[in-house]
Amino acid sequence: MINLSSPSNTAEILKKYNFNFQKKYGQNFLIDANILEKIMAAADISKEDCVLEIGPGIGTMTQYLSQRAGEVIAVEIDKNLIPILSDTLSDCSNVTIINEDVLKVDLKKLAEEKNGGNPVKIVANLPYYITTPIIMGLFESGVPLKSITVMVQKEVAERMQVGPGTKDYGALSLAVQYYARPEVICDVPPSCFIPRPGVGSAVICLERYEQPPVFVENEKKMFSVIRAAFNQRRKTLVNALANASLGIAKEAVLNALEKQNLSLTIRGEALSLKQFAQLTNELP
Ligand code: SAM
Repeated sequence: MINLSSPSNTAEILKKYNFNFQKKYGQNFLIDANILEKIMAAADISKEDCVLEIGPGIGTMTQYLSQRAGEVIAVEIDKNLIPILSDTLSDCSNVTIINEDVLKVDLKKLAEEKNGGNPVKIVANLPYYITTPIIMGLFESGVPLKSITVMVQKEVAERMQVGPGTKDYGALSLAVQYYARPEVICDVPPSCFIPRPGVGSAVICLERYEQPPVFVENEKKMFSVIRAAFNQRRKTLVNALANASLGIAKEAVLNALEKQNLSLTIRGEALSLKQFAQLTNELP
């Protein structure tokens, strides 16, 4: 099997199939063995694991996963990559390729079918243009998950792990931190990809909590409150929530803030996850 994690082997395969990169699919293929090893170590893959890879590309990371995992399912949107994957993964009998848009696949059903409802691990070099919908979809749709170890844009990795009082703090930070413990593994420069992306990248590992770290009676309601707070992040929380069509009166927000001893002019960006949870529990 040709090991793809070198610039020359990747170039050879791309040439053999006369492959044209599709910018709209966020195609930046990894060519650095050292980074691939770091991703494998962070994801802690063993033969017990069923791994779901999103966007296998030409199969570089898939080869690494196949050697370490019990089973690998890889979802790739670009039909031009399918014959290449059949070639580069011809020795990998534990890999199933699905030629679909990952955002349209019922991943919960897939995980249940392939792994008997046991939690799967997600490992991927994500297409950056859909990082947030992929991550949010994985958490919100109830896919049984152990962890998500992914390459993302550096700035997005930053956003996932920061707390209140920083400019990058927002709805994504709160959602990720409600479901998982984030840990940035390493930064990855553009030179580790073909073609080089215009932004820096980072590998982040999100280890799913068995129980969320805060108690909230209605998760859906909390995330509506969070989204409304950050949609108008320069406004006070009272005005941001009253202006959103949540059906919550200004008075009710003021009362809830008072009960928590929070300033009535506070902005959403100053509230921690715990405070958002408590506030939601107080709101009608
Ligand atoms: N895993 C490969 C690697 O590391 O070299 C490729 C990673 S590349 C950043 C992202 C991959 O996701 C591409 O192969 C792209 O075609 C695929 N992709 C983009 N949008 C997708 C979607 N909606 N569903 C599934 N795959 C997608």
